[in-house]
Amino acid sequence: MKTLNPNDLGKKFLVEECQKISMNFFSRQAKQKAKKVFLTSQIEAMDKKIELITSNVHFGGVRYWFKCPLCAKKVGTLFIHPLTQQIGCRACLRLEYRSRKYKGMLENNK
Ligand SMILES: [Zn+2]
Repeated sequence: MKTLNPNDLGKKFLVEECQKISMNFFSRQAKQKAKKVFLTSQIEAMDKKIELITSNVHFGGVRYWFKCPLCAKKVGTLFIHPLTQQIGCRACLRLEYRSRKYKGMLENNK
């Protein structure tokens, strides 16, 4: 950053010449910290043994995943089996989706 001299007073400066205080940067940092606290507390509240896995995102962030208790893969969604109450990913619990055609019909009738 340049030091100001009296002749600079009427001059227009470039944003690159100024020290930056960025809300986006603060928000990103706050989100990272809050996210971990929130996710951990949600899992504790469910009283289930679910672990989190992180992966690094391209622009320096961290992404959170569930660790499937059965296959240990990182997944975005876990399910609780209606009969066994076992927690696992869709593949481990051998769950299937309704057919796409049927799903589309339901959504269109909303
Ligand atoms: Zn699994």
